[in-house]
Amino acid sequence: MKQTELEVTTLVFLGQYDGPCPHCAFHLKKPQSIHCSECGGGLVLSLEKPFRCTSWLLFAFGLIASLGVCIDQVGLFFAAKLYQGAPLVWKWVLPELIFIFVLFVGLFFWWKLRHWSQSRGVVWRRVIGFIGVLMPIIWFNVLFWLFIFTL
Ligand SMILES: [Zn+2]
Repeated sequence: MKQTELEVTTLVFLGQYDGPCPHCAFHLKKPQSIHCSECGGGLVLSLEKPFRCTSWLLFAFGLIASLGVCIDQVGLFFAAKLYQGAPLVWKWVLPELIFIFVLFVGLFFWWKLRHWSQSRGVVWRRVIGFIGVLMPIIWFNVLFWLFIFTL
């Protein structure tokens, strides 16, 4: 069977490799195959971009976690109706649904602003990331106090 260029390059690399299998962590010492001798997992040489916690990612996390907060709270109103027969109070449910819509739209636009956010200066990136981390707490408190003040 003819080997591909990547397989040949991987075998050359593995000829010097002394470390764990990326699948099972079995210690491989200069393996002669592109498969782990312990688990059979494929060994492929690749270049990968290391994970970076960017301000864009923190803000996206904030949007997604805020969606979770809203969905959780609106779910509790519906659970109260299902399990205890409590009436649906639209003055509480409607703001949640509006916020869910706004957050979905915001997430869509934030997805498009990835390059824009990463080209900001250090201060702006920190502000964006900080707001992203605080966003679920802010959304929760806005909704919670809206609920409290309209009891
Ligand atoms: Zn393995």
